[in-house]
Amino acid sequence: MLSHFPLGTVADRNCSCWLGAEPAYSNDRSQGDFHRTSNLPPRPRSQDFGGLSAGGSREALPLLRVARIIASGHRDAARSVTICEEERMPPFQRATPTSFRAEEVSSSPLTGRRELLRIGCACCLALVAPRALADAMTPEVERHLAAAEQAAGTDLKALLVLGKAADPNFQAPPQDVEKLIALPAPPPGKAFDNLYFVGGKWVSSWALTTSDGIILFDAMNNDNDAEQTIERGLRTIGLDPSKVKTIIVTHGHGDHYGGANYFARKYGSRIVLSEADWTMMETKPEFDRPVYGRPPKRDVAVADGDKITLGDAAVDILITPGHTMGTISPIFDVRSGSQSHRVLLWGGTAFNFGRQPERLQAYVDATARAREVAKQRGVDVFISNHSFYDGSIEKLATAASGGSNPFVQGAPTVERALTVMNECAQAVLTSWKA
Ligand SMILES: [Zn+2]
Repeated sequence: MLSHFPLGTVADRNCSCWLGAEPAYSNDRSQGDFHRTSNLPPRPRSQDFGGLSAGGSREALPLLRVARIIASGHRDAARSVTICEEERMPPFQRATPTSFRAEEVSSSPLTGRRELLRIGCACCLALVAPRALADAMTPEVERHLAAAEQAAGTDLKALLVLGKAADPNFQAPPQDVEKLIALPAPPPGKAFDNLYFVGGKWVSSWALTTSDGIILFDAMNNDNDAEQTIERGLRTIGLDPSKVKTIIVTHGHGDHYGGANYFARKYGSRIVLSEADWTMMETKPEFDRPVYGRPPKRDVAVADGDKITLGDAAVDILITPGHTMGTISPIFDVRSGSQSHRVLLWGGTAFNFGRQPERLQAYVDATARAREVAKQRGVDVFISNHSFYDGSIEKLATAASGGSNPFVQGAPTVERALTVMNECAQAVLTSWKA
């Protein structure tokens, strides 16, 4: 009877699976670097890969192709390809694993390796290719990363995380959404006279006060967040949650829309999303799981260039495709004493949509366009819907202690932030094409 030993994690930004081998497999690091977990049996030292085992959920089918390619590089040894399980699909793509069994491999090693490069799973590549190939980062990729780093200076380094995927050896750390959601919320705070932070540690919610109620930007993960963090936060800072007339959901992922229904049900708040993201949520939700509130029913759909008004406030809708194809990055004015400032709230930051070059190109274009728009419009405040990127929680604490408002960064800094994101996106896109 054949036994199958897990060999390593195969992962890209979308998914991962186990590779196993029987009866023996290589432990030679010159074969490449791959990742082990502590519960794996010791690997026999052998160049004989025996039979390769691989598999996963239906969603890990690209990795099955990778497994085939690996097997094609070891045709003499490839006798069996069996099951592995996807481990680290992004939450929005996670599904009950469905086993499959791979068929015999017949492609030539050369074709297979090209295919592998196209798929771009560095860990798999490392199993069959010289290490130098797996490590390669082209000069063009390095140029983009250097440009991003230069633009980041010392104050925007958090955004540089976006460029990490340009390294062929990079493995995205697993994201435990439940744990992130469970992080205790920071106290609500005032960023400007008419803009308040009422979000959590992981995902933000911003309240813009107007002469006729409140516009909320994003509603966090679920009813509990809406009630315990946003609603309670509004009350804590002296605002009436029943005045939330409009919720602009920056994009159709569960961590931003999940609490919207709570306000719609309780206070009749209108929910605004882009046409593209309403459609995505209705037809092919990208980032949904039970911990999130249910996607809201279609309400107000907006397009690029639209304006949402409430009382004395106007919010310009800038659509910045990439993170989702209908991400809204709103632009609006805020006040700090006698000073007026203009905010760009970047609506979707991570490249967590898998290897979709056209989509990442859209992100590159969106950041370049937003940079021009921000310059023309005199935007001098850049904030995010995840505080990791904009340091909003730390800034709130600083703002509360008096002195100059740390949210007012100035137009050149806004431009630099968009350059960091743009260059990181270009670096990753270039690495995909390498
Ligand atoms: Zn998202």
